[in-house]
Amino acid sequence: MNPKRCDAIVIGAGMGGLTVAALLARKRWKILLLEKEGRVGGYVVSFKREGYTFDATGTFLGGCQEGGEFYQILREIDAHEAIEFIPIHHIRNIYPGFEISLKQGGFSSYADALTDLFPEEEKGLKTYLSLVKRIGDEIRSYSGITLAKRILFPFYFRNLIRLHRTNHQTILDRLFRGGEIKMALHTLPATEPPSRLSFLFVAALISKALMEGVFYPKGGMGRVSRVMADSFLNSGGEILLNTKVDQILMKDGRPAGVLTEEGKVFDAPLIISNVNPNLLTKMLPPEFQRPLLKKTERFEYSLSSFILYVATDLDLNEMGLPYFTYVRALSDLEEEYQMMRRGEIPKNPTLIVSVPTLLDPSLAPNGQHILKILVIAPYQYREEWGKQSPGKRQQIKEEFCQKIFQQVESKLIPDLRNHLLYYEAATPLTLERYTGNEQGAMYGLASTPEQTGHLRPSHQTTVPGLFRVGHYARPSHGIVGASLSGLFAARAILKQMA
Ligand SMILES: Cc1cc2nc3c(=O)[nH]c(=O)nc-3n(C[C@H](O)[C@H](O)[C@H](O)COP(=O)(O)OP(=O)(O)OC[C@H]3O[C@@H](n4cnc5c(N)ncnc54)[C@H](O)[C@@H]3O)c2cc1C
Repeated sequence: MNPKRCDAIVIGAGMGGLTVAALLARKRWKILLLEKEGRVGGYVVSFKREGYTFDATGTFLGGCQEGGEFYQILREIDAHEAIEFIPIHHIRNIYPGFEISLKQGGFSSYADALTDLFPEEEKGLKTYLSLVKRIGDEIRSYSGITLAKRILFPFYFRNLIRLHRTNHQTILDRLFRGGEIKMALHTLPATEPPSRLSFLFVAALISKALMEGVFYPKGGMGRVSRVMADSFLNSGGEILLNTKVDQILMKDGRPAGVLTEEGKVFDAPLIISNVNPNLLTKMLPPEFQRPLLKKTERFEYSLSSFILYVATDLDLNEMGLPYFTYVRALSDLEEEYQMMRRGEIPKNPTLIVSVPTLLDPSLAPNGQHILKILVIAPYQYREEWGKQSPGKRQQIKEEFCQKIFQQVESKLIPDLRNHLLYYEAATPLTLERYTGNEQGAMYGLASTPEQTGHLRPSHQTTVPGLFRVGHYARPSHGIVGASLSGLFAARAILKQMA
């Protein structure tokens, strides 16, 4: 393919960009994918250090079973057989005063465990799960909406309409009495506390992903983006790495191509952006920025995270450690969130510890394990993690690593620091630098009721011929959420061009 002449240019090879590029390439579109880094994947990458394969960010993904949402996307691009997904069964959630440990099953067995712990809340839990299921059914039905259903929308989608402004706290308070079960039900992949998290997002997540189980890709998270890139290349697509887009060139009110940082021009009548909305706006000539700015100024990002990558010679299998452990020390989720928004981190922050080598031993040399320890963290901590001076940056990072090690040793793995073979950490600044996600926003737009469902930015921007995908667009954040945004954008583009 001549990269100078293509049907569409995709800016950014995150999950959204890779998905839309691979799907359009399967339809014989000539697609050029431009990525500023030396590899594809955005947040979904693995990296090697001294014989260890670490996942930069993600811990699990849903919808990978046959017929699942992500499986269907992989199938559509003929990549479903190129990757093996290992089901994650063994999880342990530790809360102040109680814990839930599961060896088998997904969210339904989690709910059973909650009933055993809090029998007095059984009725509320049944109502909660039934509501979640009904919303899940409505969302599924919405994706294949017929004209009849469109006309009778309020009848078929009454929960989506009724609850679109509702946060998780409202539902939890309505159905449960105790604070502990509310805390346990809010153990979700989102950085917002119950008062800010959209209940529709929660219901979609539980009904679609968590109920059906979650998975880990054999070979590491980076395998997911690599197989998508391979499918794209096999369909005739072209990827240019280390190519940062600087400007979107316009002609007669529509995109005409892009200008890269190195001064190269690539022409295309259609541009699909997988980058942060502010960066996208700045790529446009001033007269096209204003309508986009009106919306982006009001956007609220999710929080970021600090990630500690560790290798150890401890036998974590023998110690009975599960793949996934969630350790919460503070019981007030709202207070923890408010601290973070002020740029502070609690003395004992919540930890999310995963051990990928328990599922895939090939990620480390024989007899050794790797751990990833994730802490939700604000971008503004200690004046943006001491960015003014490299010495200060290193000092703050190291202090934080030791704080996390201490907590992991006291709650989970005694003596870990005497068995370290390697460790390294990433701050929110690292996340921002590698992916262009402003403030290191780990989930893009926060999933508040105001930024969920039809209120989340759609794939078509205010500029004709300019589309957006990724976790700042519909339907949601997450690996599968971002990939679905690529699927929906591809469908919208194909429909418009038909
Ligand atoms: C620490 C952490 C843990 C997470 N854990 C999970 C998890 O367990 N499960 C889950 O489902 N999700 C998880 N997520 C969220 C998930 O990874 C993201 O929501 C999703 O991957 C975002 O995909 P995206 O399509 O928006 O692209 P991004 O990953 O944001 O990638 C954007 C791409 O665009 C490129 N780019 C930016 N600017 C330019 C430019 N000017 N020119 C060219 N290229 C450019 C970037 O380099 C990058 O490759 C996690 C995220 C983080 C940070």
